[in-house]
Amino acid sequence: MIKRSFKKAAAIIVSTVLLTAVFCANAETGRSTAAGSEIIKVGLYYKGSSVNTAQSVFDVSAQSGVTAGFENSEGVFTEIFTHNSPSPLYVRKDAYYQESGGGLKETKASGSGNGGRRFGPFHIKIGSDHPDAGSALNNVSVFRQLGIDAYIAYNDAWQVWAGSCMDEEEANRLMLDIKNQLGEAGCEIIKPSSDRIVVADGQHQTMCIFGSKSALFQVRPVPGADPAAVNIKGKPYRGAVEVRRLPDSDMTVINVVTVREYLYGNVPPEIGGRSPAEALKAQAVVSRMYALNNRGKHGSSGFDLCATTHCQVYKGLSVEVPECNKLIDEVCDRMITYDGKPVEHVYYFASGGGSTEDIRNVWGSSFPYLVSVKDDYEKIYTWTKTLRASDIRSKLPELGNILGVTITRTAPTGRVTQLAVTGSSRGEPLYFSNERCRTLFGLDSQLYTITTDADIFIAGFKEIPALPETNSAGAGGNSADTGGSETKRENEGPSTSDKGAENESAEGSSSEQDAGNGSAGQQESQSDEEVQAEQGSGDPDTAGSGNGSRQSGEEDEADEKKQAGEEPALPAVVAPVATAPIKTQLGGKKVATASGVKTVSGVKNKVTIIGKDGAVNKAAVVPETYTFTGKGWGHAVGMSQEGAIGMAKAGMTYEEIIMHYFKGTKVE
Ligand SMILES: [Zn+2]
Repeated sequence: MIKRSFKKAAAIIVSTVLLTAVFCANAETGRSTAAGSEIIKVGLYYKGSSVNTAQSVFDVSAQSGVTAGFENSEGVFTEIFTHNSPSPLYVRKDAYYQESGGGLKETKASGSGNGGRRFGPFHIKIGSDHPDAGSALNNVSVFRQLGIDAYIAYNDAWQVWAGSCMDEEEANRLMLDIKNQLGEAGCEIIKPSSDRIVVADGQHQTMCIFGSKSALFQVRPVPGADPAAVNIKGKPYRGAVEVRRLPDSDMTVINVVTVREYLYGNVPPEIGGRSPAEALKAQAVVSRMYALNNRGKHGSSGFDLCATTHCQVYKGLSVEVPECNKLIDEVCDRMITYDGKPVEHVYYFASGGGSTEDIRNVWGSSFPYLVSVKDDYEKIYTWTKTLRASDIRSKLPELGNILGVTITRTAPTGRVTQLAVTGSSRGEPLYFSNERCRTLFGLDSQLYTITTDADIFIAGFKEIPALPETNSAGAGGNSADTGGSETKRENEGPSTSDKGAENESAEGSSSEQDAGNGSAGQQESQSDEEVQAEQGSGDPDTAGSGNGSRQSGEEDEADEKKQAGEEPALPAVVAPVATAPIKTQLGGKKVATASGVKTVSGVKNKVTIIGKDGAVNKAAVVPETYTFTGKGWGHAVGMSQEGAIGMAKAGMTYEEIIMHYFKGTKVE
């Protein structure tokens, strides 16, 4: 179940940002800071740099009806009108629409009028401004009784408008009609604007138009149902829905909720709503810290957090679990502190594969509470992923034919912290470090080993050198590493633009995974086993376990035949007797043959290897497949959700869980 949770949305997200800034923000808005009552704005549909779910038209409804209005900069809500019915209202841009199959479809300004009714962004303002909504609505009902299609408009002034004309000519005709009917001269044509929002009923009767430059349009459920929820596109959410018009975008749809309500819809999809109580509480505390620390992460899109793994998963009322809600209520005033101060960086992920990782080896920064700890209670998740050389080439076209992928450095936990990729078009390998060793190939974790169809074990030469350690982890000399997504994330404060954030999400969503395979020590011992097997009988069955190389001849036979006609076979090679054999591949290496020293080459060639006991094996010169075998899922920094569940099952409290993963912290 938890596995499903990491596979799907879950897990892995992470954060940064200053708590102090959060509380300042609270003070500014004058909102209550009572635990759990902080307001969070969650973007449900919006246009970002790598996502576009912004809406042209969508429906809202609530069991007892909805109130449309706006919130000013002080957080004061003013009602425009109330719709006392569970029937949905339709929110759309003030643009060009045509009736289509009962609904509305956005259309072009001009074009054929075949099909249903059309609605455009030209309107007639009737009379002068009104002092309040009541006064404007009184006039609306008078005009409607006269057969005029009137409605209330809020344009930073209370007005009465009529019509939804497709062009100025149509608007002129309507204005003349209205003037004739009302004998009133104070009419004027309202021209299109990309800032306005229209609310209409199911018959496409306009209920109001909102075009304020300063206030924010919201739809709230009429109290009655418990909990009061507003259905947005058929899905129920607590709180209110806020709709914004941002430049070059359809409508941004935002759910405005308290942090407590947010956690109700966040904890179950993150860790599984039926997980052990103490694990749920640990998740709630960590999620809340994340949410508060990351307010404003999507500030340029008009909200705090998105609802996906890029920030934290949030699915609203439909995923709530009543027992989980009660646990959230118990802990939503808890903070994680270090040295008496709230921690600034809270991260979590699905599964560590036996240990968590020091943040230094993932994103390059360093925090005393984000160091590697053992994960003794988690169910270990293992994975393998096989890539063809051509798959790797398509990711790194500048390298030409891929000649090798080599782990050149690992952390004490065994996680890969430097990877060298060599290709035919570049003399030097490209180096990748830290998190890029995971995200480069979309691996589940940074904890893995690599085997290929060309692995052999010989001694007597140097393997690809590691790039020297640089002071900032993450970078690394001429490394191709351009900096992991999380590194950027760490620089983000509550006011950071979400452009970078969304870039992260593009990387994040496909690569937020984690795991690895054993420690460095394990890897070495496996290699030794294989070497012995290779140099002994050559029997593949005696070669080490998961790490086993395929040099047993047999498997390569078919390939060899297939390619025999294409390129001549190379002369036999005698590998030197190994004293300290290491795993390598032959491509590009110089070997002594009966006719002198030759460089082994040819992407599709095979070589024959004679072991010291005379066993004959064949190996590809250049690997065609790379198999990554690993453990864990996610970046491995901070709390492991699998581990938290394991610790809770073993009887530990949520405080113990949090203090284990965030070393030296307290929960208070
Ligand atoms: Zn996000």
